[in-house]
Amino acid sequence: MSDANAAGILGFREAVETVLQHASGVRIPEAETIALLESAGRVLAEDVVADRDQPPFDRATRDGFAVRADEWTAGRHLRMVGQVRAGEESAGASLANGEAIEIMTGAAVPVGADAVAMVEHAEQSGDEVWVAEGRGLTAGENIVLRGSEARKGEALLASGMEIAAAEIALAAACGRAELAVRKRPQVAIVATGDELVELDQAPEAHQIRNSNSYALAALVAAAGGSPGRLRIARDTREDVRERIAQGRMWDLLLLSGGVSAGKYDLVEEVLAEFGAEFFFTGVRMQPGKPVVFGRLPKLENTSGGGPECYFFGLPGNPVSTKVTFHCFVEPMLRAMCGAGVGAPRFVQATLAEDVQGRVGLTRILPARLTHDFARPEVRLVAWQGSGDLAANARANCYAVLPDGRDLKAGDVISVLLR
Ligand code: AMP
Ligand code: MG
Repeated sequence: MSDANAAGILGFREAVETVLQHASGVRIPEAETIALLESAGRVLAEDVVADRDQPPFDRATRDGFAVRADEWTAGRHLRMVGQVRAGEESAGASLANGEAIEIMTGAAVPVGADAVAMVEHAEQSGDEVWVAEGRGLTAGENIVLRGSEARKGEALLASGMEIAAAEIALAAACGRAELAVRKRPQVAIVATGDELVELDQAPEAHQIRNSNSYALAALVAAAGGSPGRLRIARDTREDVRERIAQGRMWDLLLLSGGVSAGKYDLVEEVLAEFGAEFFFTGVRMQPGKPVVFGRLPKLENTSGGGPECYFFGLPGNPVSTKVTFHCFVEPMLRAMCGAGVGAPRFVQATLAEDVQGRVGLTRILPARLTHDFARPEVRLVAWQGSGDLAANARANCYAVLPDGRDLKAGDVISVLLR
């Protein structure tokens, strides 16, 4: 049996690095083919290749006149000999000396033309067109040449990329109605606590609604996993055992609560009974200090599940649960989705107020990031501690306050995006 305390308590950075190290070794799920529009948030399991040159023809980027740039000079009148519209075949349209062809944005530039004069920069009368004063052209202006964005056969999206609107647009441009993506890892969510009631129950005065299972389910889905909420585990050895036995059959097991030092915090002990390896049993951070990360060995005689099951024991206080999810679970889960190994999503922002540090802890506090045209600014949200879900909902990020340092307004700090 492993000793739960042997793994010990790590600094924040060390703990993140420990997770990333394990994330780099996870097994990536099989591929499945799904409809293009279902693929947002999934991880691509194939390369998407340009099925033709992009753009597929020399494309006008302005409404105006297809001309030869060296003929578009002050005082010279050109004869308009036709018109090409977007979606119209320009085959046959070609330009001889002294001619111009009226052209619309998105249309194919006729043979012989090497620039498009904007309609706003031209004067016209009858079938003659000429340059407006001071509005000359250089060759190539207002034309995107065939194949200059992508060549037929070129891989435009690579396996392992996360799919969002930009990738969906590009896949659509390549004619792809379906994409091969990685299957979602199955994530079991177990809330522990005698005080918890489910949403269909009216809580007594001393009871708390189980919000963590919902928070975690939403976070898992947003990170690309498929969440399953198991029944609440009461603070008894039997109940915690039973739920862990169920949860270990999944790809990843998330437990909330029961990891502090209290008499009824049984999660670590029971995990140890199952032969768990612990990679850390606490992190010098606030909130989130009691967070636990480890791995359960593969069950004998089962074909289901992975070769082993990673687990996180997250603190029960709702803000702690979310902060530790973003710092540790999210990078692990993204790797399990096949998206590769990446640190939590930190950006830099300017602190809008003085904040006191705390010696021995990295503080990761609910905060609001505001963007204006100058620079992103962050200020802490007033809160009543790590149970304050209302304050958490007023926040849109978490400000990272390094160990022991007092910070001044104007200092640049890291901000954890959510
Ligand atoms: P624990 O980590 O088990 O000591 O839980 C700390 C506190 O977090 C509890 O006293 C509850 O108020 C709260 N809590 C624990 N589990 C949940 C949950 N599933 N949903 C909402 N709050 C919870
Ligand atoms: Mg508890």
